Amino acid sequence: MRRKTNVSNTADYKRFFAAVEATLDDFYIFDGIHDSSGAIVDFRFSYINPNAERRLGVPRETLYGKVLTEVRPFMVKSGLIQQYLEVVRTGIPYTTEVFIDDEMIRSTWLNVQVVRLGNGIAVTSRDVTEHRRRSDHINYLAHHDHLTGLTNRTLLHERLRQAILRAQDDGERVAVFLIDIDFFKQINDSLGHANGDILLATVGQRLLSSVRESDTVARMGGDEFVIVMPEFHSIQEVERCGEHIIRNASRPIEISGRETSLTLSVGVSIFPEHGRTAEVLLSNADAAMYSVKESGRNNLCVFDEAFAKQGPLKDPAIVIERSRLPIAIKPR
Ligand code: GH3
Ligand code: MG
Repeated sequence: MRRKTNVSNTADYKRFFAAVEATLDDFYIFDGIHDSSGAIVDFRFSYINPNAERRLGVPRETLYGKVLTEVRPFMVKSGLIQQYLEVVRTGIPYTTEVFIDDEMIRSTWLNVQVVRLGNGIAVTSRDVTEHRRRSDHINYLAHHDHLTGLTNRTLLHERLRQAILRAQDDGERVAVFLIDIDFFKQINDSLGHANGDILLATVGQRLLSSVRESDTVARMGGDEFVIVMPEFHSIQEVERCGEHIIRNASRPIEISGRETSLTLSVGVSIFPEHGRTAEVLLSNADAAMYSVKESGRNNLCVFDEAFAKQGPLKDPAIVIERSRLPIAIKPR
């Protein structure tokens, strides 16, 4: 049996009905349900427009008079019902975007606006799934490197800043590895730029597969990568991780039927001893990496204040000696 809505049959309301029946938005009116103390604790469906009826997939008449949280249990789980009740209590409109995936509404982002209407509320909602998908994609593009799919420079800075803040709070340390492929220009020249791209993507994936999920692997541009590793227990652990990462990423790569060898130069800086900001840590990891390049490449070196004071060191023996973390990568 069709319940009467709380909208009476005057000329004004006829116009109101014509508008809400025709709008492309979903539109609902809910009446408040009072408890014994007179406080509104839930709502009853009072009006549903045709678009909302299509979205819910059931004849609207079957819902009139029913209790909102009984028909839509996600309202309780998501905490939305509290927000709706707050609108009636305060009269302040509420807007949100909510993802719904239940038996009535499948995988849909809805933009929802709620306003007070007497002792109840009017809810207007709209499907924004496509818009969300597009803005998620744009957001992804803005924060990832298109060639490797890794975190890009912008997001890396953000992640490093967050890691520093967490480490500060928890009294932890953060290791920053700056990794540059040796003689990549020559590899590019001999293999061609497109194959160079494949090599970069392969190295990126290998770096990613060498670390924990809580670590961040980024491509800074060109043949340069950065790994941010929070929560390590000792310098020895950083050493072991660096060794593992280098060995895994510098395995020969088969491209177009040819096996290509590569080596990596890696500089490491550690928060807090080598810097307290993302910029200083990256710059000092770069200085350490540069010292490896200068001393013959294919090695890992932890930043030392001596690099900053004296500039790049020329003598390979000095690099190894001054580095607190010399790792000899055996040439193949
Ligand atoms: P070094 O051992 O000193 O690192 O020498 P390198 O030849 O690796 O030189 P460097 O790291 O300074 O230069 C990286 C080169 O990577 C420069 C450029 O030709 C190449 N490159 C930069 N971006 C891309 C890219 O997206 N794809 C490819 N295939 N090559 C790139
Ligand atoms: Mg290089």
